[in-house]
Amino acid sequence: MSIADNITALQRRMDKAAREAGRDPASVHLVAVSKKQPPERIRSALEAGQRLFGENRVQEASAHWEDIKASGAYPDMNLHLIGPLQTNKVKEAVALFDCIETVDREKLVHMLAREMEKQNRRIPCLIQVNTGEESQKSGVAPQNLPDLLTVCRGEGLNIQGLMCIPPADDATGVHFAFLHKLAAEHGLQTLSMGMSGDFETAIRAGATHIRVGTAVFGKRPDIA
Ligand SMILES: *Cc1c(COP(=O)(O)O)cnc(C)c1O
Repeated sequence: MSIADNITALQRRMDKAAREAGRDPASVHLVAVSKKQPPERIRSALEAGQRLFGENRVQEASAHWEDIKASGAYPDMNLHLIGPLQTNKVKEAVALFDCIETVDREKLVHMLAREMEKQNRRIPCLIQVNTGEESQKSGVAPQNLPDLLTVCRGEGLNIQGLMCIPPADDATGVHFAFLHKLAAEHGLQTLSMGMSGDFETAIRAGATHIRVGTAVFGKRPDIA
């Protein structure tokens, strides 16, 4: 199967899951996760019409996308940061990405707000929630979400919703339902959840953005 075929097949499964959940298929967006993929596969996805992409590292995203974005050939393309953001990469991230999905701590909120002001580039953000409360995982603890949201609003950060990466060994449906409930409590519309293995479950639980790598591009090559 070509990457265009993969995207068509995915779109069909997404539409079906949305319809079965009584949702408008147009309310679910595919974020094609291009991390660790070779440039020719990324080009194929662009040629297939895909415009929304996700990367989990700032430096790699820059190598993949800086020239393509600067070329202006795809003015409607949209790049999401879906991995942890170190404060020393904030400047580069604000310049490159169109959405930061992984806001998770107060210091980062302050730095993002300052940098967006400086670059006059106010990009939408999501807050990553550590729904499984795993000590090694990034994301704000659910009980600290209200305080973090208050800080974001105080700084004028445009928080559109929530994102989560459930624990690898858990049934993900409960985490997705939990994230949906948190978003509803805070009047947030965007829900980034679900990957290649569980995006239909995520759509049934209300995902507006699913982050899919393998099912779009094929297996990531084992290279650094
Ligand atoms: C890699 C990655 C994905 C995509 O995973 P697949 O299983 O390849 O679909 C989704 N979200 C995040 C945060 C990732 O790092």
